[in-house]
Amino acid sequence: MDRLDRLRGPEPPRPHDARAIAALAANPGCARRAVLDAAGVDKDAVATHLGFPAPFGRSPFAITRGDAFEALVKEGGGAELLRLLRELLGLPLPLAGYTDLADVGGNPSAHLRHSHTRRLIDRAARDAGEAATLYDHPLLRLEIAGYHSYLEPDVVAFQLGGRFHIVEIKSFAVVDGQAEPDKVAAAARQAAVYVLALSTLLAELGHDPSRVSHEIVLVCPENFANRPAATLVDVRRELAVLRRQLARMTRVGAIVEPLPDTLTFDLGRDDGGVPRRPVAELRSAVREVGARYAPDCLNTCDLCFFCREEAAEAGATDLLGRQVRDELGGVATVAEALALADGSLAPDDDRAEIARLLRLADRLYAEVS
Ligand code: SF4
Repeated sequence: MDRLDRLRGPEPPRPHDARAIAALAANPGCARRAVLDAAGVDKDAVATHLGFPAPFGRSPFAITRGDAFEALVKEGGGAELLRLLRELLGLPLPLAGYTDLADVGGNPSAHLRHSHTRRLIDRAARDAGEAATLYDHPLLRLEIAGYHSYLEPDVVAFQLGGRFHIVEIKSFAVVDGQAEPDKVAAAARQAAVYVLALSTLLAELGHDPSRVSHEIVLVCPENFANRPAATLVDVRRELAVLRRQLARMTRVGAIVEPLPDTLTFDLGRDDGGVPRRPVAELRSAVREVGARYAPDCLNTCDLCFFCREEAAEAGATDLLGRQVRDELGGVATVAEALALADGSLAPDDDRAEIARLLRLADRLYAEVS
């Protein structure tokens, strides 16, 4: 852990919220991200100091719309949500309890709220006959590379008979049964974090973690109206990736081991909190850890503009997207792919097959152009 602390510098480790943890699963092969996140480095501050500020942040309009839709779904003690769950899960639910865990007797302390969530979830899991309950703002936590991260409570957990479903409320529209795949994928990754955190909590309490359903309930507005509609989304794949990535972060020592002992991402802030570290020096430090850029990074990682420029400078095949990169396995740059295609570069044994396919593609392209 000392090594990770040195990599970060004197700043306290940056806590991970569910959105950040979900983003880990978006690019599990990237060592740079794994190291920076394990060390709790503020990637946004690093990207800004490097001159590549992250393009994220929701517009005030989107935030207002999201808040209004969430309030609509939850109004009347979750009456509308209960109607949706009744239809979707085919359950005879005349009534359900509604417990808001946003604070405990007016005290919003994360520690207290988490203890309260634990107590209520434990009770619900023990008493399988207990009536259905909606838990709004449950405060869950996950261990990320040795640190406990509390998860932002923008979620509802629904339990019936000791079985739990995570409910994600999102304000992007579902039109004729279809939503934007990128948005659904991001929501599924985020919900998988909650499924994992709730399963972990059940296991810690001595209950069967599989009592948390791997099908989450996604609630979105339907057909441009504000009327909510619910669908089940299977997040098993996202869970598997997330588990792998979190395990990788606990083994991050193997990635950190060969890095120079003096390496740090410290921004060298002065007394006023202004970063003073020379940009060129920080750039070299970040480049010490290999990246695996993919266009998806533009939606999920604060360092995306920096890594995109680095990949462009190198002419990396990474820029062409994950599918092309995987199909070109072992061919790192566009120049190398072109040289293999026109025969000016002789392939080694490992790349003989991809070279044959590239030559074939080059011939076909020449014939039709
Ligand atoms: S933006 Fe860079 S650091 Fe972040 S996941 Fe992509 S390649 Fe890795």
